[in-house]
Amino acid sequence: MDTSWKIAVIGSGPAGFYAAGEFFRQKSWDIKVDMFDRLPTPFGLVRGGVAPDHQKIKSVTKIYNRIAENPNFRFFGNVEFGSDLHQPDLLKHYDAVIYSVGSSSDRALGIPGEDLNGSHSATEFVGWYNGHPDFRDHKFDLSVKNAFVIGMGNVALDVARILAKTPEELAATDITDYALEALRKSQIENIWLVGRRGPLQAAFTPSELREFLELPGADVMVEGNSLELDSESREILETKASKDTKKNIEILEQISASKLSGKKKRVHFLFLASPLEISGEAKVEKLSMVRNQLVKQADGSLRPQATENKIEEDAGLIFRSIGYLGKPLADLPFDQKSGTIPNECGQVKDTESGNSLRHCEYVAGWIKRGPSGVIGTNKQDAVETVHRLLETFLAEKIEPGQNVDLPDIVTLLESRKVEYVSFADWKLLDAYETEAGQAQGRPRLKLTSITEMLEIIRQKR
Ligand code: NAP
Repeated sequence: MDTSWKIAVIGSGPAGFYAAGEFFRQKSWDIKVDMFDRLPTPFGLVRGGVAPDHQKIKSVTKIYNRIAENPNFRFFGNVEFGSDLHQPDLLKHYDAVIYSVGSSSDRALGIPGEDLNGSHSATEFVGWYNGHPDFRDHKFDLSVKNAFVIGMGNVALDVARILAKTPEELAATDITDYALEALRKSQIENIWLVGRRGPLQAAFTPSELREFLELPGADVMVEGNSLELDSESREILETKASKDTKKNIEILEQISASKLSGKKKRVHFLFLASPLEISGEAKVEKLSMVRNQLVKQADGSLRPQATENKIEEDAGLIFRSIGYLGKPLADLPFDQKSGTIPNECGQVKDTESGNSLRHCEYVAGWIKRGPSGVIGTNKQDAVETVHRLLETFLAEKIEPGQNVDLPDIVTLLESRKVEYVSFADWKLLDAYETEAGQAQGRPRLKLTSITEMLEIIRQKR
């Protein structure tokens, strides 16, 4: 009889893999992990979110590949939670479930005109150029001259950088073919990054900002006098600003001091401005903004406050990049405001507001803590969840298989005619994509349609 613990992990992004890895590090526990993903491809945002020109960041998948080699690990791709499998199914087959599904939606600005043609979320654009099957059919009008990216986080920088890079630079990446072709024909001349607060409060990180000093096809500038900090910001910079913030200011000063050299494109950093309205006949034509000033709050933070000073700019394309947002999952509580599943150290709360906890359900990654941090942040996050789970099992004296009353999940998937993809199948697809890429001197050529992916897997098996 199999006396191992059986854990289901829903979502194969960094948090899911770090959780699986932590289970396998527990020498005194015999644990089997089944990981499910709705796509045939694993790795979540590492494949679908990390920018194509950031291949080094993607090399983190080597760690996930090693975890997947553990004989107690199985991957079930192309299996969607909520349609192919439901929460009650999982609770009948597994001792516990970890939901690590990330934050697949995004925050809206809530301003008039946001739904006009030409106004998009950064999530859509990022998914499109990265070949996420959900976004491959999106269309972006790159024949316009002025693009605006609202937000000053790393995703906003990714979007602005991809718009600013030359086709030659992009061709060396694993950006999808259709995006490369569309960007090759791009007529965009001005890319504006709009931050509601000042440079000191920007959410991006220095290594990502530094890349803007090295764009062969775009001049970069800081608009207005926003680097002349107000007295509160100056004091913060001198007394308690983080190393990253100080570096950001140094780089922005370098950008500001650099000469414009008549390159084809221009990136504008516009701080202390908030969008008020997007307007146009049938599509985006103008963006109205208001100048902000920073006002100190009771907790010492500096928040933006609108002044009387309004700005209006011609705009053809607008991307809001003001944060991702989690989506609710059936049969689980959900906090609408934070877009997360309420939990205590990763253990799911029984209801949205109460304090009682579920013994068999846990969360890790962005759906647990919200969309913050870099890929590595998910390691400590997942480790916390795994140990919370193990401690709960010990405290509650739960035995392996105690609540499990059905045979292997494969029986259920087969009875439902779900065409699941194993990790070995994914490796076939991976080899196909990388070989196709290498033939063109590129890291990989991504397949973006699930039908095509399954077809290639069937052929190569
Ligand atoms: P983020 O870092 O949270 O940045 C969100 C930005 O949107 C902030 O500048 C924020 O300004 C602004 N914002 C929020 N609400 C707004 C509103 N109503 N109006 C105007 N601006 C608003 O989010 P993100 O860029 O989506 O990134 C998510 C996470 O992924 C971050 O931890 C990021 O570092 C990480 N990431 C890392 C990389 C990398 O390492 N290369 C790449 C991409 C993403 P306030 O500060 O004023 O709220």
